Amino acid sequence: MTDTTHPATATFTTRDPATGRTLAAHPVHGPEDVARAVDRARAAGARWAALPAARRRAHLLAWKRTLAEELDEVAGSVAAETGKPLGDARLELLLTLEHVAWAARNAGRVLRRRRVRTGPAAANQAASVVHRPLGVVGVIGPWNYPVYTPMGSIGYALAAGNAVVFKPSEYTPATGVLLARLFDRAVPGFAGLFGVVTGAAETGAALAASGVDKLAFTGSPGTARKVMEECARSLTPFLAECGGKDAVLVTADADLGAAADAIVWGALGNAGQTCAGVERVYAVRAVHAELVDRVVERARGLRPGSGPDAAYGPMTMPGQDEVVRRHVDAAVAAGAGAPLGAVETPDGPFVAPVVLVDVPEDSPAMTEETFGPTVAINAVADVDEAVRRANASRYALGAAVFCGSRRAGAAIAARLRAGAVSVNSVLGFAAVPALPFGGSGDSGFGRIHGAEGLRAFTAPQSVTVRRFAPPVDLTSFTTAPAAKARAVALMRWLHTRR
Ligand code: NAD
Repeated sequence: MTDTTHPATATFTTRDPATGRTLAAHPVHGPEDVARAVDRARAAGARWAALPAARRRAHLLAWKRTLAEELDEVAGSVAAETGKPLGDARLELLLTLEHVAWAARNAGRVLRRRRVRTGPAAANQAASVVHRPLGVVGVIGPWNYPVYTPMGSIGYALAAGNAVVFKPSEYTPATGVLLARLFDRAVPGFAGLFGVVTGAAETGAALAASGVDKLAFTGSPGTARKVMEECARSLTPFLAECGGKDAVLVTADADLGAAADAIVWGALGNAGQTCAGVERVYAVRAVHAELVDRVVERARGLRPGSGPDAAYGPMTMPGQDEVVRRHVDAAVAAGAGAPLGAVETPDGPFVAPVVLVDVPEDSPAMTEETFGPTVAINAVADVDEAVRRANASRYALGAAVFCGSRRAGAAIAARLRAGAVSVNSVLGFAAVPALPFGGSGDSGFGRIHGAEGLRAFTAPQSVTVRRFAPPVDLTSFTTAPAAKARAVALMRWLHTRR
């Protein structure tokens, strides 16, 4: 929060997960601080909403340019707070810039008033619908992609004409504060429009209870349930982007080299701490062994660390290495094979790649989000079994299909219970801002990104304008009963006709 006249008393400290080095102290904002941030956002938001769409677009594109100019500073903050390699942080920023640009450029077109047909019962009316901003949108974010992920809500909510109060993860507060500082620099005259409050669960709970007009949450399903409960008290609309257990399906005619390359990147990139990362692979039996060999061969050479040659960084959250170890140990104890990695003990926050095979489907490595640099590759009899197993998860976020035929791949994609599917790549959808993103089941509900992601932060308003008096006015006490009966008979005839 940029208002320093009421400093919060308590603070919390962030650390570099790779080294344990202390990074900075940040205020723990309580309910009063949050309420002040929401008030300031609401005041600035009224002026923001009143701007023509073209002016908001210009302001947001200015912010995007500033973010691009300061890319190294923002990426440096992301790398320091999450431990991920600087190159990964830069890539995260580049994808974010694409989304901010798309939201800025398309909000006017997607949300503008459009006429709709009235139908015979209201032929005397002109009808239109417009999508209006909600007011103040609260955003609660995770740490794994501390810019890309929350910006799917922040950028789209601002583009739709809202103000935003953002609570970044307690692991990445400096990155959140930096985003708001750069916004204030690029968009002068709107102080508080994009406010940031820092803290952990209590601050997030205060934001959910603050009377914001919608709460966009990204994080784990367990936390989503708590935040939704808080939102339920005030009927605050809620959007949940939660975890995943994404599957990759590999058919017999797939390009195994391409599939292995994508699986290794999708499973191990960002140390596996990606909501739509690859956690499960179902390969038809005929190619299973060769695929496993190729994945192991590629993964074997990858090393976690904090230097420039590291493929990925540490587990960002303390204790996450224990979750990974529990899943791997349980899988091996239940009879899974481990052609790579499982016997190695995690080295503090750094976890070497793990490849598991033949993992029982009821093992936590197949049912729970592991969020680590592991992948389980199971053999299936055919595509039908692959689809059935992929769909059996309580999560339904992303998925991928590797298939020799693009058309057949797309047909398999259509059978998957997932919010986004890539054919012959992984996470292909993440770089296409026009595509909505979100899941169902334990992966949450609602959509960010794309036109749906803009509309998610608006309320449609329907308007009718009476153009002339109808021949028979059915909404008047003065209309003669016989005329009403004739109108009813006519409408009935219209609706019974074949
Ligand atoms: P988390 O659920 O622990 O925390 C998420 C946020 O909620 C944090 O800002 C946290 O401070 C806040 N919070 C915690 N308790 C709260 C409460 N009671 N009331 C209000 N706020 C509260 O998740 P995380 O560890 O930060 O993030 C990892 C999770 O996020 C993974 O499950 C990952 O899959 C998911 N994720 C999903 C997406 C997506 O778009 N679907 C993207 C990135 C991450």
